Amino acid sequence: MSDIIKLLPDSVANQIAAGEVVQRPASAVKELLENSIDAGASELKLIVKDSGKTLIQVIDNGKGMSNTDARMSFERHATSKISSADDLFNLNTKGFRGEALSSIAAISQVELKTRREIDDLATIIKIEGSKIKSQDVCSAPVGTSISIKNLFFNIPARRNFLKSEKAETKHIVDEFLRIALAHPDINFTFTHNKTTLYNLRASSLKKRIDSLFGSKTNDKFFPIEEDTEIVSLIGFVGKPEFAKRRRGEQFFFVNDRFIKSSYLNHAVSTAFEGLLPPDSFPSYFIYLDIDPKSIDINIHPTKTEIKFDDERSIYAILRSTIKHSLGQYNISPSLDFSIDRNLDEELMKPSSNFAQPTIEVDPDYNPFQNDATNSGKSYSGQASYKKPDTKGWDSLYSGLENLSPDDSFIVSPTNDIESSNITWEEETEQAKLGSESSFEHKSDIHFQLHKKYILSHVRSGMLTIDQNRAHERILYDYFYNNITQDNFASQQLLFPIEVEMNESQWALLQQVLPDLEKIGYSFVGFQNNTVTVSGIPIEFSESDSKNMIDKILGDIEIAEIDIFENKLHLLALSFAKTKAVKYGSTLQQSQMSEIVNKLFACANPNYSPSGKLITNIIDLKDLDEKFN
Ligand code: ADP
Ligand code: MG
Repeated sequence: MSDIIKLLPDSVANQIAAGEVVQRPASAVKELLENSIDAGASELKLIVKDSGKTLIQVIDNGKGMSNTDARMSFERHATSKISSADDLFNLNTKGFRGEALSSIAAISQVELKTRREIDDLATIIKIEGSKIKSQDVCSAPVGTSISIKNLFFNIPARRNFLKSEKAETKHIVDEFLRIALAHPDINFTFTHNKTTLYNLRASSLKKRIDSLFGSKTNDKFFPIEEDTEIVSLIGFVGKPEFAKRRRGEQFFFVNDRFIKSSYLNHAVSTAFEGLLPPDSFPSYFIYLDIDPKSIDINIHPTKTEIKFDDERSIYAILRSTIKHSLGQYNISPSLDFSIDRNLDEELMKPSSNFAQPTIEVDPDYNPFQNDATNSGKSYSGQASYKKPDTKGWDSLYSGLENLSPDDSFIVSPTNDIESSNITWEEETEQAKLGSESSFEHKSDIHFQLHKKYILSHVRSGMLTIDQNRAHERILYDYFYNNITQDNFASQQLLFPIEVEMNESQWALLQQVLPDLEKIGYSFVGFQNNTVTVSGIPIEFSESDSKNMIDKILGDIEIAEIDIFENKLHLLALSFAKTKAVKYGSTLQQSQMSEIVNKLFACANPNYSPSGKLITNIIDLKDLDEKFN
């Protein structure tokens, strides 16, 4: 029998390589942008049409290529970036595999125009399915312009496999963001179908984050910085109250290359332990600088995964640095009663070993029952929606038992007219707030500030509580616990309410219809872009109900696919937000007490269900200092 093994022609080999390197238009975008950065460009233009299916063009002002190099660049394993295996461990370029251009040229129609500063004329090459169609000279500015047309034109199965325009564009935007974040010192523009999506000027990292995410970095993030022998890291990490319900804004860069690492992500999450609302994720932009010798980038064709020699130390350093900054910027909630106050002083030195500062909570007290049987189990700080087991609250008040109102700063409630149209009495009555047991604590002295905050004595100083968020937390826990039970009654409306929505919104609403019906809503149907609501829960007024349906719709639209997982959360949140006492409402002493007591009966009194900070303690020591 004759031999059967033969070498594949280059065009086939390139197509196979393309399967790994170019999975979708966004992968080609990444490769082109990276090549331009490697070429030392300071100005980069990305032009995309039809989510990259028709055109992807990158124009740079980098160093360009000679006539021969331009032709060579499309050969497989042709690279100017490494020449020996050793170089793999001393990389300071994005590329090194020499297979991007050859892969891309195997599956599209490419036009390359490039000129070096020393050359008078540029080279222009047209190549299609790995075949050179033409090579010529022309005039062009210094730098390189590559256009990729009709990606996957010769692999219909791949072309048809591409996702919707929206999804593919999102992938491209993601790649663009990763590169723009890794290189704030480069100017970028990105145009899609003639619309300029981004026009970024070279700037500091902080400004780059601002211009990409429209966020006030100073307000939402705290900086991190650490320099050790193993790794240097800098970056911005989101404050817990800005944590997101989706993993969107989480970025690691190693030596200016975006990487994915669930291991390092775990380090960040554990640094936040107990500080984040359930199912929420901190945002972060973290830049690690590591000796290239101690990492291996060549473990995945798309180079988004890295192997670290000393993964565990990097994990520990990262976690420790974030914990330290959380303490330093006073982000750890003071209501973790025995928070390690030494956190601030504990500065890490390059050679220090990386012991974790820990936040420990004294679990041994329940303010509301003097239950001697309390176990010594430690409180994880993570909210669960079981019946709350509140511990520790009352000790804040110890020593204040004998204070009469006259001894304290109590100020009589103001005579302001209720500015909220829902009165507190109605709400507490109707919503049957919180749990059945009524908690009493020993110091019921509260003061309302600007109809927004509840102030209260605690042992270490003054407790401030955001009234709206606190009430939202109480109601959320209540609704969340009760939605699945048949605790809600319905009232039929004499005049049904009509809520306008379009068909897709109606389709969305149907996903939660059974749950809405369970709690007392009834719907007659959908006609002419209007839904008729004939019954509502007795807890809600007609105007509440209308607002709430709009709110639920908005929330579902934002949550999109997550709806099934988060259905109960979404509903409970919409209810809580609609009913929670607003800013501007005057609260009586009894109402403030009720809020305070019920808040601290919640499993997670520090953060509102949407992740906002509820409580804060102004330390007596800090006050004293102000009077020094
Ligand atoms: P790699 O980036 O891994 O070296 P590529 O296939 O992406 O492989 O590119 C091949 C070579 O073509 C590069 O090594 C580089 O020398 C050259 N090249 C590609 N794009 C550019 C560009 N925009 N400007 C200058 N040279 C480029
Ligand atoms: Mg490359």
